[in-house]
Amino acid sequence: MLFDFGVYPDDKNSMATIAVFGQGGLGLPDRDYYFKTDAATQAVVAAYKTYMQKLLMLTGTDSITAGKQVELVYALEKQMAESHKTNVALRDPQTNYHKMAVSQLAKTMPNLQWPMLLKTLNIQVDSVNVQQPDFFAKLNQLIVTQPLGTWQLYLRLHTINSAARILSAPFVQASFNFYGKALSGQTQMKPRWESVYRTIDSQIGEALGQLYVEKYFTKEAKQRMDALVHNLQTAFAQRIDRLDWMSDSTKQKAKEKLQAFIKKIGYPDKWRDYSKVNIDRNHYFNNVMAAEANNYQYMIQKLGKPVDRTEWEMTPPTINAYYNPLYNEIVFPAGILQFPFFDPKADDAINYGGIGMVIGHEMTHGFDDQGAQYDKEGNLKNWWSKADYDQFKNKSQQVVHLYNGFTVLDTVHVNGSLTTGENMADIGGIAIAYDAFKMTNEGQDSTQKTDGFTPDQRFFLSLAQIWRSKEKDAYTRRLINTDPHSPAMYRVNGPLMNFTPFYKAFHVVPGNKMYLPENERIKIW
Ligand SMILES: [Zn+2]
Repeated sequence: MLFDFGVYPDDKNSMATIAVFGQGGLGLPDRDYYFKTDAATQAVVAAYKTYMQKLLMLTGTDSITAGKQVELVYALEKQMAESHKTNVALRDPQTNYHKMAVSQLAKTMPNLQWPMLLKTLNIQVDSVNVQQPDFFAKLNQLIVTQPLGTWQLYLRLHTINSAARILSAPFVQASFNFYGKALSGQTQMKPRWESVYRTIDSQIGEALGQLYVEKYFTKEAKQRMDALVHNLQTAFAQRIDRLDWMSDSTKQKAKEKLQAFIKKIGYPDKWRDYSKVNIDRNHYFNNVMAAEANNYQYMIQKLGKPVDRTEWEMTPPTINAYYNPLYNEIVFPAGILQFPFFDPKADDAINYGGIGMVIGHEMTHGFDDQGAQYDKEGNLKNWWSKADYDQFKNKSQQVVHLYNGFTVLDTVHVNGSLTTGENMADIGGIAIAYDAFKMTNEGQDSTQKTDGFTPDQRFFLSLAQIWRSKEKDAYTRRLINTDPHSPAMYRVNGPLMNFTPFYKAFHVVPGNKMYLPENERIKIW
């Protein structure tokens, strides 16, 4: 509860696993909530305190005592938050890597009792990656300066909080009032079947995934996707060759990294085994606990073994995709290989503008502000010449600057630094997808109209269509603080206002709202 713990590939030795400790322990979405003084944040903090008070009351504490106890716990969290890095500072992989000997930690942070802590976590290791040492130093201090009673309250509250979603109706309602209503602007709880299926997906998702792909993912879809990914990879390599800001030797390294991508499409080759998870129709809570215990064992048994690069981080029904710099891989679960992203029966304009853009986006992550720092083997290791990397950083700054200027709600604007990587991936993704589209028959014939639109226009309409969404202001505010993606609207407008073929397709001219002079349009990849 006090920190994040996981077993991952070692950033600087990507074929080996390492135990990773990260900052944590807060109840609010991130550190800034504890210090911002604007009305919207204050309202969230008030709702959080009401929620915690309610949890204590539901477990037998009277309201006045509960109110006082919440203030103690909140004050403790606020002290932890002081030592937290900001979401922007967390983006830098170099400054968030600190491999340390356990023997050393036992001396420098003795109050955390590292040997006993590791034993309790059921792991045996000589060294660990302490991602944010300042946070753990602060924790080491708070352990002894805070009264034992405050720590007990803190642990009690966070234990109840972490289980509230799977307890009886009053707990579920209280949890919804905070996480659903106050933080996301939701007015209604999702039906029970939907929240239960989400729990199944997150706990034993590859069992659900097998059923899902049987029904929703065909061989035909897989073949069409293979062709799309292949064309995108070719288009990206050609774009690298044409870059005017990069030296030949760095271009060579970039193309080697691109060619080394592991590609995962649809679902894993081998499924996870959940036979040790005891499922009982009568005990939802116990089922979730059993699945969590199994997942924990599954995670810690990776220590001391070579990294298994066939593993997936997302389940097959997930409507999402990812690039993992430690594996140098791009991954597309079957869940996103559906309309409007992808349809094996649709024409190329629709598929390249939709899933093609997503493929290009994930490929570009291999070369965004973070991905660019990892080599083709997945190690955090520089492969750039200094001059090229300086150019790259200058170009990243242009992206930060442009997106900082997008105002979303009243005074709330996109955080350009937090979203740089995703914005670079969006800008690069659309360009690569477009080049790949131009390799198809439909892409080469600019005259043939469908429903009154040219192939290029349909390509851009498909891109806009995949991001159609509606969201409440409260949800937008929370995401602006914590989500590395720009709001959906800017995932369309941002890349397109920088992309000249879009201007041509829709005859955009000076004076139009999104018009940027050609020399101000950003092009990195
Ligand atoms: Zn992304």
